[in-house]
Amino acid sequence: MEEVLLDFANIPVEPPDVRSTCLQCERPTSVCWCVSLPTPPLCPRSRIILLQHPAEEKRCLRTAPMLRFGLSENKCLIYKGKRFPGRRRDLETILQEPNTILLYPSPDAVDLKSLLQNNNAETSFNLVLIDGTWPQAKAIFSSNPILHKIKQVKLITHSVSNYIIRTQPTEGCLSTLETATEALILLENDDGYRNLLRPLQTLCDFQLQNGAVSHQSKEFLISNNQYPKRIGKRLNKHKRSLGLPVRAGLPLDGDSSYRKPTRTIYTSLTNTPSETRPLRSRSELVLTMSS
Ligand SMILES: [Zn+2]
Repeated sequence: MEEVLLDFANIPVEPPDVRSTCLQCERPTSVCWCVSLPTPPLCPRSRIILLQHPAEEKRCLRTAPMLRFGLSENKCLIYKGKRFPGRRRDLETILQEPNTILLYPSPDAVDLKSLLQNNNAETSFNLVLIDGTWPQAKAIFSSNPILHKIKQVKLITHSVSNYIIRTQPTEGCLSTLETATEALILLENDDGYRNLLRPLQTLCDFQLQNGAVSHQSKEFLISNNQYPKRIGKRLNKHKRSLGLPVRAGLPLDGDSSYRKPTRTIYTSLTNTPSETRPLRSRSELVLTMSS
């Protein structure tokens, strides 16, 4: 009897049938983007502070972890929630520091570039970003008075989003990683920070090779009557908020009403042709925040 039990005990246990997962990015190892992270992680003078909407963490194509792991420890701090600072004393301290700035396109926001021109080149900043969709970011901003007291800045950039898998709200609207990267290039006066984008490129390449369709921005789809979620009055209302013509089939080019955005976030010069997304022929694109 004892011998039989011993035989059973010696039967090798089969490995559990699970896909191996990267411990860092928590994605299946076959689609892990960690190999494209800068090594060693980059260490800027300034810090990025992400105020992350709870829903953002659940998205499978989120970019905040790429930023966090691409930067040295404590150079990208992520705080999750809808109320800030909440009970987090460390965050409250950061939000009240004089060198803290908030990237948010309020009417009072100043161009980050011009802010830097008026500061000592060695100044380090706490750059606060709200991580979420635009409606989520707007809600977080309006319901957290402490954010209103922080100096607000905006980015004026030449970049158009590389993040082509997830539909962007407007042409050229940047993901969290792309936004932080553009800001760090300015803050540190170092184009080397562009290396932070490599994991995103890896991810997009992988998704496209495996059948993902590159998405047009909502702005593009709406302007071409291809956006499925809004019809009739809602579509027209949304078009008006984007400054787009409301009559169906109107060509964009030559339409002057397009240049009346409700609120400007970034001004983007889209001179770089994109293979995955047809661009408008006009060279200047004023991006708007849909309200
Ligand atoms: Zn990984």
